[in-house]
This record gives sequence, C-alpha cells and structure tokens, in this order.
Amino acid sequence: MVKINTVLGPIDPEDMGLTLPHEHISAGYPGWECDPLSRPYDREKIVNVCIKNLEPIKKYGVKTIIDATPLDLSRDVEVMKAVSEKLQIHIICSTGRYKENGGKWFYFRQREEGKIGEMKTELYEGFMRELTHGIGLTGIKPGVIKVASGLNQISSCEDASLRAAARASKETETPIMTHTEDGTMGPEQADLLISEGVKPHKIVIGHMCGNPSLEYQEDVLIRGVYIAFDRFGIEMLVPDKVRIAMLVELLKKGYEDRIMLSQDFIGCSFGRGGRMPEEMLKLVMNWSFTNIFHNVIPALKKAGISDKQINTMTIDNPMRYLSGISS
Ligand SMILES: [Zn+2]
Repeated sequence: MVKINTVLGPIDPEDMGLTLPHEHISAGYPGWECDPLSRPYDREKIVNVCIKNLEPIKKYGVKTIIDATPLDLSRDVEVMKAVSEKLQIHIICSTGRYKENGGKWFYFRQREEGKIGEMKTELYEGFMRELTHGIGLTGIKPGVIKVASGLNQISSCEDASLRAAARASKETETPIMTHTEDGTMGPEQADLLISEGVKPHKIVIGHMCGNPSLEYQEDVLIRGVYIAFDRFGIEMLVPDKVRIAMLVELLKKGYEDRIMLSQDFIGCSFGRGGRMPEEMLKLVMNWSFTNIFHNVIPALKKAGISDKQINTMTIDNPMRYLSGISS
C-alpha cells in the first residue's frame, strides 16, 4: 500500500481529502537574509503568522497542502511541522531547486567549475539524501520534488536539476512538480522529464494558468501530464477572469482529470516584502489561501462546471498524482 510522506510522517492517500497542491507555508527570495532591515528570524512568530493566514482554509474543509518551497527559497520544515500540528492539516514538503535566475546556484556552479554533468550527479545525490534519510536532522521526508525553469528557456543548471529530479523520482517513486515562468517551457519540461523515464502521471507542470493560450495548454496536456492552475489571485500576471475562462474551456473539452487548482500563496514571506504601488496592490487584493473557495469555484459553478468536476480537480487528482495512480 502506497503511503504519502507528510511533515508529521506517512499517511494513507485516502486521508488527503481536499488538497491545495501548490502553496508556500513560508518562503523568502535569496538575499532577504542579508538585508539588515529584514525582520529577525523568529520561528515562533513565523509560525503564528502562518497559522493566522492558514486558519481560514479550515472552514472550507482543506485537509492537505503541498508546500512547493524548494531548498533554495529558505524552506523551513520545522515551521511546517509546527503549523501542521497546530492546525491539524497534512503538509507535504518538497526537495528540489528553484530556477537559475531566482534561486541559489553560485555554490554549485563554483563547485563544479561549470561541469554540468557533475552538477547533475551532485543535485541527484542531494535530492536522494532528503528523500531517503530526511531533511537535515529532522527525519522529515519530502513527498515531492520541485524543479523550475526561467522565462522561455531551460538553462544548463535548470536542465541539470530537471534531469537529477527525474533520476531521483524514478528511484524513489516520488512525483515531480515544476515552476514555469509565466507558463513558458511547459512542453519542453514535460518532454525532458518523460525522456528521462518519468511517467507523465507523476508530473505536474506548474503555473500554466500564466499562459493565456488554449492551444498551448492542450499542447502540454496531450503529453499526459497534469497541469496546475495554481496562481489564482496574482492578477498582475493574468487576471483571474482570464484564468477562469481558459479553465472552463479546458473542462468543457474533458480535461478535468489532469488539472489541479491552487494559489501559490505564501503564509509568511521573509524580508521586508516587495514595494508595490497602490494600483498593483489592487491586483493582489484577492490573493490568499482561500481565493479559490471564495471566488474561483463559485465562478466555475456559474459557468456550468459541476461539483463532480471540481472534486476531481481538488480531491481526486492530487491524491492520484501523489499515489502514482495513472488514471
Ligand atoms: Zn510557488
């Protein structure tokens, strides 16, 4: 019987229930820790902020969150563990790496003096270490591998990371989730991972709702992978109205068994936060852990999408993906 690793230990797939498949309990972009004006790292305070932001999901019946924070965005599994215990929700954490322009790559680049083949091996060994022994000394094992690429290209470091993830995924049966920049390189990510031997049903191509082309969505979907509409609420990238219209079209075409919904929200962001002009702030007004339930699902229902289709996307798909069931 397949078990799913959470930060509090393994659970049965049937216990996952309603799942948000791409959120961040806490995260920070590299460099925040070198800003003397950043708030000091106080884990207790961080946990309290996360709990305040996450508590509203309880009323919608969310049982499980997949935390998509890779190693290099200040992932903190102790925070996840405390939040999971206090809120009584399952949290599944990730191993893996962020995109080259945005993550922490200097160390590996320097270590390998540009030899990408060796970097690939070292990344693989690192992912395997976390997947088989646990993260640091915590004993907490990741349930997914998160990898990423940048805008309109997969750089050599990102290529190494995707291939390392594929190898670790095959050996441990761990599924892979990706970050695409504005939904670009989706077909290329899928092709690369599949060519390395990962089964399509063990791959989620992320942030696909960032690319408002139906043709493009289908170009990824025909490869058999999952896609995530996982940035509802970040309306300066793509308005939710556009994401919803695109989703309705895909659902009408029968793709509900390959789509997942989430928000990419961050319970506690480290550092001082981005400076945003007033008009930009309006474009993230609805961004939260509950935007899907407040705004997106009601809009889908209004457009004729059934409860069954919604449950497929929010309950069945994350469960099938994590337990490796192909259809
Ligand atoms: Zn994310």
